[in-house]
Amino acid sequence: MSTLASLEERALADLHDCTDEAALRVWKTRYLNDEVEQAVKKVSTLPPAERPAYGKQANELKKKLTAEYESAIAAEKERALARSLASEALDVTLPSRPARRGRLHVSTQTLRSIYAIFADMGFQIYRSSEVEDDETNFGLLNMPEHHPARDMWDTFYTTKPGVLLRTHTSPGQIHVMRELCPRPIRVILPGMCYRYEAITTRSEIMFHQVEGLAIGERVTMADLKGALIAFARRMFGDERTVRIRSSYFPFTEPSIEVDMDCIVCAGAGCSLCKRSGWLEILGAGMVHPVVLRNGGYDPARYSGFAFGMGVERTVMMTYAIDDIRQFWANDLRFLRQFGT
Ligand SMILES: [Zn+2]
Repeated sequence: MSTLASLEERALADLHDCTDEAALRVWKTRYLNDEVEQAVKKVSTLPPAERPAYGKQANELKKKLTAEYESAIAAEKERALARSLASEALDVTLPSRPARRGRLHVSTQTLRSIYAIFADMGFQIYRSSEVEDDETNFGLLNMPEHHPARDMWDTFYTTKPGVLLRTHTSPGQIHVMRELCPRPIRVILPGMCYRYEAITTRSEIMFHQVEGLAIGERVTMADLKGALIAFARRMFGDERTVRIRSSYFPFTEPSIEVDMDCIVCAGAGCSLCKRSGWLEILGAGMVHPVVLRNGGYDPARYSGFAFGMGVERTVMMTYAIDDIRQFWANDLRFLRQFGT
Protein backbone atom coordinates (compact mmCIF):
# COMPACT_ATOMS: atom_id res chain seq x y z
CA MET A 1 0.00 0.00 0.00
CA SER A 2 2.76 2.43 0.89
CA THR A 3 4.45 1.57 -2.44
CA LEU A 4 1.29 2.61 -4.23
CA ALA A 5 1.15 5.88 -2.28
CA SER A 6 4.75 6.77 -3.05
CA LEU A 7 4.23 5.81 -6.74
CA GLU A 8 1.30 8.19 -6.89
CA GLU A 9 3.30 10.97 -5.28
CA ARG A 10 6.23 10.54 -7.69
CA ALA A 11 4.00 10.21 -10.74
CA LEU A 12 2.01 13.37 -9.96
CA ALA A 13 5.13 15.39 -9.20
CA ASP A 14 6.73 14.32 -12.50
CA LEU A 15 3.52 14.99 -14.39
CA HIS A 16 3.48 18.58 -13.16
CA ASP A 17 7.07 19.03 -14.31
CA CYS A 18 6.18 18.11 -17.92
CA THR A 19 6.34 21.27 -20.09
CA ASP A 20 5.39 19.93 -23.50
CA GLU A 21 3.61 17.12 -25.28
CA ALA A 22 6.76 15.10 -25.87
CA ALA A 23 7.52 15.06 -22.12
CA LEU A 24 3.95 14.01 -21.36
CA ARG A 25 4.27 11.06 -23.73
CA VAL A 26 7.50 10.01 -22.07
CA TRP A 27 5.73 10.25 -18.71
CA LYS A 28 2.89 8.07 -20.00
CA THR A 29 5.29 5.37 -21.18
CA ARG A 30 7.14 5.39 -17.89
CA TYR A 31 4.20 5.43 -15.48
CA LEU A 32 0.93 4.31 -17.06
CA ASN A 33 2.43 1.72 -19.42
CA ASP A 34 5.13 0.45 -17.12
CA GLU A 35 5.21 1.19 -13.38
CA VAL A 36 1.44 1.30 -12.85
CA GLU A 37 0.96 -1.89 -14.89
CA GLN A 38 3.65 -3.61 -12.79
CA ALA A 39 1.95 -2.42 -9.60
CA VAL A 40 -1.43 -3.76 -10.76
CA LYS A 41 0.08 -7.14 -11.70
CA LYS A 42 1.75 -7.36 -8.33
CA VAL A 43 -1.63 -8.29 -6.77
CA SER A 44 -1.13 -11.94 -7.70
CA THR A 45 2.04 -12.16 -5.60
CA LEU A 46 0.31 -11.02 -2.40
CA PRO A 47 -1.22 -13.20 0.30
CA PRO A 48 -4.91 -13.80 -0.55
CA ALA A 49 -6.16 -11.73 2.38
CA GLU A 50 -4.45 -8.58 1.16
CA ARG A 51 -5.40 -8.93 -2.45
CA PRO A 52 -8.87 -7.27 -2.52
CA ALA A 53 -7.79 -4.07 -0.76
CA TYR A 54 -4.53 -3.77 -2.75
CA GLY A 55 -6.21 -4.57 -6.04
CA LYS A 56 -8.86 -1.92 -5.46
CA GLN A 57 -6.32 0.72 -4.57
CA ALA A 58 -4.05 -0.18 -7.52
CA ASN A 59 -6.96 0.13 -9.97
CA GLU A 60 -7.99 3.45 -8.46
CA LEU A 61 -4.44 4.70 -8.82
CA LYS A 62 -4.39 3.63 -12.46
CA LYS A 63 -7.72 5.38 -13.10
CA LYS A 64 -6.62 8.53 -11.34
CA LEU A 65 -3.26 8.80 -13.12
CA THR A 66 -4.93 8.09 -16.49
CA ALA A 67 -7.40 10.94 -15.85
CA GLU A 68 -4.62 13.26 -14.72
CA TYR A 69 -2.62 12.42 -17.83
CA GLU A 70 -5.57 13.03 -20.15
CA SER A 71 -6.39 16.37 -18.66
CA ALA A 72 -2.70 17.36 -18.74
CA ILE A 73 -2.35 16.47 -22.42
CA ALA A 74 -5.59 18.27 -23.31
CA ALA A 75 -4.39 21.38 -21.53
CA GLU A 76 -1.02 21.16 -23.32
CA LYS A 77 -2.76 20.91 -26.72
CA GLU A 78 -4.74 24.06 -25.99
CA ARG A 79 -1.60 25.90 -24.96
CA ALA A 80 0.12 24.78 -28.21
CA LEU A 81 -2.81 26.05 -30.28
CA ALA A 82 -2.76 29.39 -28.46
CA ARG A 83 1.00 29.67 -29.05
CA SER A 84 0.69 28.99 -32.78
CA LEU A 85 -2.21 31.43 -33.15
CA ALA A 86 -0.13 34.11 -31.48
CA SER A 87 3.03 33.46 -33.49
CA GLU A 88 1.33 33.03 -36.89
CA ALA A 89 -1.20 35.80 -36.43
CA LEU A 90 -2.84 36.90 -39.70
CA ASP A 91 -4.38 40.33 -39.96
CA VAL A 92 -7.08 39.93 -42.57
CA THR A 93 -7.82 43.66 -42.52
CA LEU A 94 -4.41 44.53 -44.02
CA PRO A 95 -4.57 45.62 -47.68
CA SER A 96 -3.26 42.90 -50.00
CA ARG A 97 0.06 43.21 -51.84
CA PRO A 98 -0.52 44.72 -55.27
CA ALA A 99 -0.47 42.17 -58.10
CA ARG A 100 2.11 43.10 -60.73
CA ARG A 101 0.12 43.44 -63.93
CA GLY A 102 1.58 43.55 -67.38
CA ARG A 103 0.14 45.63 -70.16
CA LEU A 104 -0.10 45.58 -73.92
CA HIS A 105 2.65 47.34 -75.83
CA VAL A 106 1.39 50.56 -77.36
CA SER A 107 1.98 49.14 -80.86
CA THR A 108 -0.22 46.13 -80.02
CA GLN A 109 -2.91 48.45 -78.68
CA THR A 110 -2.82 50.47 -81.89
CA LEU A 111 -2.82 47.34 -84.07
CA ARG A 112 -5.93 46.15 -82.28
CA SER A 113 -7.68 49.49 -82.83
CA ILE A 114 -6.83 49.25 -86.54
CA TYR A 115 -8.12 45.64 -86.69
CA ALA A 116 -11.40 46.68 -85.06
CA ILE A 117 -12.02 49.53 -87.51
CA PHE A 118 -11.36 47.44 -90.61
CA ALA A 119 -13.26 44.48 -89.17
CA ASP A 120 -16.33 46.73 -89.01
CA MET A 121 -15.85 47.38 -92.73
CA GLY A 122 -15.73 43.64 -93.44
CA PHE A 123 -11.96 43.14 -93.65
CA GLN A 124 -10.53 39.90 -92.31
CA ILE A 125 -7.02 39.49 -90.90
CA TYR A 126 -4.61 37.47 -93.02
CA ARG A 127 -1.19 36.66 -91.61
CA SER A 128 1.81 35.55 -93.57
CA SER A 129 5.40 34.73 -92.78
CA GLU A 130 8.05 37.29 -91.84
CA VAL A 131 10.62 35.20 -93.70
CA GLU A 132 10.02 35.47 -97.42
CA ASP A 133 11.61 34.55 -100.68
CA ASP A 134 12.97 37.21 -102.99
CA GLU A 135 10.41 36.39 -105.69
CA THR A 136 7.38 37.03 -103.45
CA ASN A 137 8.82 40.04 -101.65
CA PHE A 138 9.88 41.75 -104.90
CA GLY A 139 9.48 39.89 -108.20
CA LEU A 140 5.78 39.04 -108.08
CA LEU A 141 5.05 42.57 -106.84
CA ASN A 142 6.27 43.97 -110.13
CA MET A 143 9.87 44.50 -109.03
CA PRO A 144 11.98 42.13 -111.07
CA GLU A 145 15.68 41.82 -110.34
CA HIS A 146 17.61 45.03 -110.91
CA HIS A 147 14.37 47.05 -110.84
CA PRO A 148 15.37 50.48 -109.47
CA ALA A 149 12.48 50.40 -106.97
CA ARG A 150 14.32 47.71 -105.02
CA ASP A 151 16.69 50.45 -103.94
CA MET A 152 13.88 51.89 -101.81
CA TRP A 153 14.32 48.99 -99.39
CA ASP A 154 17.61 47.95 -97.84
CA THR A 155 17.07 44.29 -97.21
CA PHE A 156 18.18 41.72 -94.65
CA TYR A 157 19.19 38.65 -96.63
CA THR A 158 19.70 35.27 -94.97
CA THR A 159 22.57 32.89 -95.60
CA LYS A 160 20.23 30.90 -97.84
CA PRO A 161 20.18 32.42 -101.34
CA GLY A 162 16.84 34.04 -102.23
CA VAL A 163 15.53 33.97 -98.64
CA LEU A 164 15.12 37.29 -96.84
CA LEU A 165 13.23 39.05 -94.06
CA ARG A 166 10.26 40.72 -95.65
CA THR A 167 10.77 44.45 -96.18
CA HIS A 168 7.03 45.13 -96.26
CA THR A 169 3.76 43.26 -95.69
CA SER A 170 2.93 43.34 -99.42
CA PRO A 171 4.17 39.79 -100.21
CA GLY A 172 1.11 38.73 -98.19
CA GLN A 173 -0.96 40.08 -101.10
CA ILE A 174 0.45 37.38 -103.36
CA HIS A 175 -0.19 34.65 -100.75
CA VAL A 176 -3.79 35.67 -100.08
CA MET A 177 -4.62 36.13 -103.78
CA ARG A 178 -3.24 32.71 -104.71
CA GLU A 179 -5.14 31.13 -101.83
CA LEU A 180 -8.52 32.75 -102.52
CA CYS A 181 -8.55 33.29 -106.31
CA PRO A 182 -11.05 33.78 -107.99
CA ARG A 183 -13.13 34.77 -104.96
CA PRO A 184 -13.39 38.43 -103.91
CA ILE A 185 -10.91 39.51 -101.23
CA ARG A 186 -11.18 41.98 -98.38
CA VAL A 187 -8.30 41.54 -95.93
CA ILE A 188 -5.78 43.39 -93.85
CA LEU A 189 -2.27 41.98 -93.55
CA PRO A 190 -0.59 43.08 -90.34
CA GLY A 191 2.88 42.21 -89.14
CA MET A 192 6.52 42.99 -88.54
CA CYS A 193 8.79 44.13 -91.37
CA TYR A 194 12.57 44.48 -91.45
CA ARG A 195 14.93 46.85 -93.17
CA TYR A 196 18.68 47.08 -93.03
CA GLU A 197 18.81 50.75 -92.17
CA ALA A 198 20.78 52.95 -89.85
CA ILE A 199 18.72 53.34 -86.68
CA THR A 200 17.80 56.97 -86.13
CA THR A 201 15.00 58.82 -84.38
CA ARG A 202 12.97 58.42 -87.58
CA SER A 203 13.87 54.90 -88.74
CA GLU A 204 14.18 51.47 -87.13
CA ILE A 205 15.27 48.12 -88.52
CA MET A 206 11.98 46.52 -87.47
CA PHE A 207 8.50 47.98 -87.43
CA HIS A 208 4.86 46.97 -87.85
CA GLN A 209 2.90 47.55 -91.00
CA VAL A 210 -0.75 47.02 -91.75
CA GLU A 211 -1.51 46.38 -95.37
CA GLY A 212 -5.03 46.33 -96.79
CA LEU A 213 -6.22 44.57 -99.93
CA ALA A 214 -9.64 44.49 -101.60
CA ILE A 215 -10.20 42.67 -104.87
CA GLY A 216 -13.37 42.06 -106.81
CA GLU A 217 -15.29 43.07 -109.90
CA ARG A 218 -15.80 46.84 -110.25
CA VAL A 219 -13.65 47.83 -107.24
CA THR A 220 -12.72 51.47 -107.89
CA MET A 221 -10.61 54.27 -106.51
CA ALA A 222 -13.79 55.70 -104.96
CA ASP A 223 -14.01 52.56 -102.80
CA LEU A 224 -10.40 53.08 -101.73
CA LYS A 225 -11.03 56.70 -100.87
CA GLY A 226 -14.18 55.87 -98.92
CA ALA A 227 -12.45 53.14 -96.92
CA LEU A 228 -9.50 55.38 -96.06
CA ILE A 229 -11.62 58.38 -95.06
CA ALA A 230 -13.76 56.12 -92.86
CA PHE A 231 -10.61 54.71 -91.29
CA ALA A 232 -9.03 58.14 -90.65
CA ARG A 233 -12.19 59.41 -88.98
CA ARG A 234 -12.64 56.32 -86.78
CA MET A 235 -8.97 56.33 -85.82
CA PHE A 236 -8.27 60.03 -85.41
CA GLY A 237 -11.62 61.75 -84.94
CA ASP A 238 -14.82 62.52 -86.89
CA GLU A 239 -13.70 65.97 -87.98
CA ARG A 240 -10.65 64.66 -89.94
CA THR A 241 -10.27 65.50 -93.61
CA VAL A 242 -7.89 63.71 -95.94
CA ARG A 243 -5.86 64.85 -98.89
CA ILE A 244 -4.74 62.60 -101.70
CA ARG A 245 -1.52 63.17 -103.64
CA SER A 246 -0.28 61.20 -106.57
CA SER A 247 2.72 59.00 -105.88
CA TYR A 248 4.57 55.98 -107.18
CA PHE A 249 4.75 52.38 -106.00
CA PRO A 250 5.72 49.53 -108.33
CA PHE A 251 2.75 47.36 -107.25
CA THR A 252 -0.06 49.92 -107.65
CA GLU A 253 -1.23 52.00 -110.60
CA PRO A 254 -2.25 54.71 -110.03
CA SER A 255 -0.52 55.20 -106.69
CA ILE A 256 -1.37 57.76 -104.06
CA GLU A 257 -0.15 59.11 -100.74
CA VAL A 258 -2.85 59.96 -98.23
CA ASP A 259 -2.46 62.88 -95.85
CA MET A 260 -4.75 63.86 -93.02
CA ASP A 261 -5.19 67.33 -91.58
CA CYS A 262 -2.92 67.69 -88.53
CA ILE A 263 -4.45 66.29 -85.34
CA VAL A 264 -2.75 68.99 -83.26
CA CYS A 265 -3.34 72.17 -85.26
CA ALA A 266 -6.14 71.01 -87.63
CA GLY A 267 -4.34 72.51 -90.61
CA ALA A 268 -3.06 75.77 -89.13
CA GLY A 269 0.55 74.56 -88.95
CA CYS A 270 2.57 73.38 -85.96
CA SER A 271 5.78 71.52 -85.15
CA LEU A 272 4.16 68.05 -85.45
CA CYS A 273 3.15 68.68 -89.06
CA LYS A 274 6.29 70.75 -89.74
CA ARG A 275 4.12 73.82 -90.42
CA SER A 276 2.40 72.12 -93.37
CA GLY A 277 -0.94 71.47 -91.67
CA TRP A 278 -0.93 67.89 -93.01
CA LEU A 279 0.30 64.51 -91.75
CA GLU A 280 1.14 61.68 -94.12
CA ILE A 281 -0.76 58.59 -92.92
CA LEU A 282 -0.36 55.96 -95.62
CA GLY A 283 0.40 54.98 -99.18
CA ALA A 284 -2.15 53.30 -101.41
CA GLY A 285 -3.32 52.72 -104.94
CA MET A 286 -5.12 50.44 -107.36
CA VAL A 287 -3.50 47.01 -107.55
CA HIS A 288 -1.19 46.87 -110.58
CA PRO A 289 -2.44 44.56 -113.38
CA VAL A 290 0.84 42.62 -113.24
CA VAL A 291 0.32 41.94 -109.52
CA LEU A 292 -3.31 40.91 -110.11
CA ARG A 293 -2.17 38.49 -112.77
CA ASN A 294 0.59 37.10 -110.51
CA GLY A 295 -2.08 36.47 -107.89
CA GLY A 296 -4.20 34.59 -110.43
CA TYR A 297 -6.79 37.29 -111.18
CA ASP A 298 -7.59 38.45 -114.71
CA PRO A 299 -7.05 42.24 -114.70
CA ALA A 300 -9.56 42.62 -117.52
CA ARG A 301 -12.28 41.42 -115.19
CA TYR A 302 -11.05 42.11 -111.65
CA SER A 303 -9.68 45.20 -110.03
CA GLY A 304 -8.59 46.02 -106.51
CA PHE A 305 -7.09 48.52 -104.16
CA ALA A 306 -4.28 48.21 -101.65
CA PHE A 307 -2.92 50.42 -98.92
CA GLY A 308 -0.20 50.20 -96.32
CA MET A 309 0.60 52.09 -93.16
CA GLY A 310 3.32 52.02 -90.54
CA VAL A 311 1.90 51.29 -87.10
CA GLU A 312 4.69 52.95 -85.10
CA ARG A 313 4.42 56.03 -87.32
CA THR A 314 0.71 56.14 -86.55
CA VAL A 315 1.41 55.90 -82.81
CA MET A 316 4.06 58.61 -83.08
CA MET A 317 1.57 60.87 -84.78
CA THR A 318 -1.18 60.15 -82.28
CA TYR A 319 0.97 60.84 -79.21
CA ALA A 320 3.48 63.27 -80.75
CA ILE A 321 6.40 60.87 -80.04
CA ASP A 322 9.59 62.15 -81.64
CA ASP A 323 11.87 59.08 -81.37
CA ILE A 324 10.95 55.73 -82.94
CA ARG A 325 13.74 53.98 -80.99
CA GLN A 326 11.54 54.20 -77.88
CA PHE A 327 9.35 51.38 -79.20
CA TRP A 328 11.90 48.61 -78.77
CA ALA A 329 14.10 50.14 -76.07
CA ASN A 330 12.06 48.37 -73.34
CA ASP A 331 12.15 51.45 -71.17
CA LEU A 332 9.23 50.99 -68.78
CA ARG A 333 9.05 54.75 -68.17
CA PHE A 334 8.02 55.07 -71.81
CA LEU A 335 5.80 51.98 -72.04
CA ARG A 336 3.88 52.63 -68.81
CA GLN A 337 2.47 55.85 -70.22
CA PHE A 338 0.09 53.87 -72.39
CA GLY A 339 -2.70 52.33 -70.32
CA THR A 340 -4.10 48.92 -71.06
ZN1 LIG B 1 0.05 70.62 -87.10
